[in-house]
Amino acid sequence: MIRSGSEYLASIRDDRVVFINGERVKDVPTHPMFKPIVDIRAKIYDLQHAASTRDVMTYRDAGENFAIGVKLPRSQSDWWDKRRAVNTVFNEIGGVVTRVGDETVGEMWSLFDGQDVLNEVDSQFSENIRNHIDRVVQADPFHVSANTDPKGDRSKPPQEQDPDMLLHVVKETDEGIVVRGAKFETAAPYANQAFTKPTIANWGNEAYSDYAVGFICDLSASGIKMICRTGFAGRSPVADYPLANRFDEIDSLVIFDNVLIPWENVLFYRHTRAAAFIRATLHRYSAFAFVQRNLAFADLMIGAALWNVRQTGLDKQPAVQEKLAKLAVYREGINAHLTAAVALAEISPGGLHMPNQSLLYTGRVHACSQCHEMVHIARELCGGQICVTPDSAAFEDPESGAWLQKYYTVNEDWIADDRRRLLAFARDLLNSDYAGHRLTFQLFAQSPPFAHLGAVYRNFGWDGPLEFVKNSAELSDGVCSERTLDGWLESQPHPDAG
Ligand SMILES: Cc1cc2nc3c(=O)[nH]c(=O)nc-3n(C[C@H](O)[C@H](O)[C@H](O)COP(=O)(O)OP(=O)(O)OC[C@H]3O[C@@H](n4cnc5c(N)ncnc54)[C@H](O)[C@@H]3O)c2cc1C
Repeated sequence: MIRSGSEYLASIRDDRVVFINGERVKDVPTHPMFKPIVDIRAKIYDLQHAASTRDVMTYRDAGENFAIGVKLPRSQSDWWDKRRAVNTVFNEIGGVVTRVGDETVGEMWSLFDGQDVLNEVDSQFSENIRNHIDRVVQADPFHVSANTDPKGDRSKPPQEQDPDMLLHVVKETDEGIVVRGAKFETAAPYANQAFTKPTIANWGNEAYSDYAVGFICDLSASGIKMICRTGFAGRSPVADYPLANRFDEIDSLVIFDNVLIPWENVLFYRHTRAAAFIRATLHRYSAFAFVQRNLAFADLMIGAALWNVRQTGLDKQPAVQEKLAKLAVYREGINAHLTAAVALAEISPGGLHMPNQSLLYTGRVHACSQCHEMVHIARELCGGQICVTPDSAAFEDPESGAWLQKYYTVNEDWIADDRRRLLAFARDLLNSDYAGHRLTFQLFAQSPPFAHLGAVYRNFGWDGPLEFVKNSAELSDGVCSERTLDGWLESQPHPDAG
């Protein structure tokens, strides 16, 4: 089944408790700070039905249409289809949004791969994950990710401070478990459900394993309270902040005030090995969709910078071309990692088609760790005018507008209004409050940089270089690894691959 936009809107008109700017939100879909992003999410649902896009956004199975984004990946073409569907969304909405469902659903596929671990405690848990993956395909809910607790003082174990600093189980009942704590979640106020699990493992020993819990949370459940950061939409005219007003994805502190999680939604409980497994493998699929956003963001930077130097006639300068080339190298580096990760995909322990892990995680580091430098290059190429240009009202005013027409009209091709539009766009992409938030999102939203490097460390094939040096330096067999050099070389990209 695929939902329509209006079905989605109806699904978030429930008793959910959402606060923003010190006010309780009466109706999330129409609140000015939520409306633009909720409308985009609704549009994504509608794109699944529209004649011009449904073939890209959905697949057919047993005579029914289902969303491409939530399909369990079983082949290379599933990944190309997912990538194409996301690009279609960006083209249709004219911008980049990240936490809209396809980027988070893959976290559940990681647990699908961990069914053996779940079975160690209770086979019900592995049945639950299979049911939820199936349910997402069948019911098409908007699914988000909940990992990050407020955490408190990390030098102390949870029991030596307010125990709610990490989400934990406080009671077990016939119906399910009761949990307390809080998580930071982007998009939760306008989503349907969140895969909730621990992100740090300082439960220490068995006594703290009440913290080793993972479940699907219905975001309208009783006891959930969402306290949002201020939105960027509606604060200033769309003409001056065109991205902030349209694409802001609102983050929220989601409080679990003794929330009952029915047993069928519990994916693991009192199970530190399952918690450790999901922590280690969480982004094995979802990093693909996240890194794809970096690629699209790079395109926005390249486009803004290039239009600017074309408008000002600077694009013929070799030094300017060099800076544009740096942006292109960054962009194509991401593209290459994503493409190669699919071309050299691996079969996961659960039998799924998993992007090549080493290439995917190194791609994520490439994309996220250099993002700020690329923002700075794009900022430099756009010049200081992005932060000194008056707002649209000054252009519209008859008196000041006349002067601005004169000084912002570059030549017969580039009139003042185009110049103003481009500079406002670039400011919102690179310099505004929203731009800073976006950059921090790319830095942190899929775990912090040290965790990205940790994933690289765990997934890179160290044996190959070890073996290579062992042979070359004629080291003794004592340091021989199991993997052979031939095996490693074979696993490296080949011109024919793909
Ligand atoms: C815009 C935005 C949206 C987000 N959306 C979501 C979401 O939807 N769902 C969700 O679950 N989370 C979300 N997050 C939270 C995000 O995952 C966390 O911010 C991130 O994991 C870092 O955790 P923290 O903020 O608690 O920082 P801290 O844990 O306090 O870390 C701060 C810094 O301390 C250092 N550090 C901490 N621990 C270590 C360590 N063990 N080893 C080495 N260095 C260390 C690192 O430099 C790290 O960057 C979002 C964050 C942002 C900024």
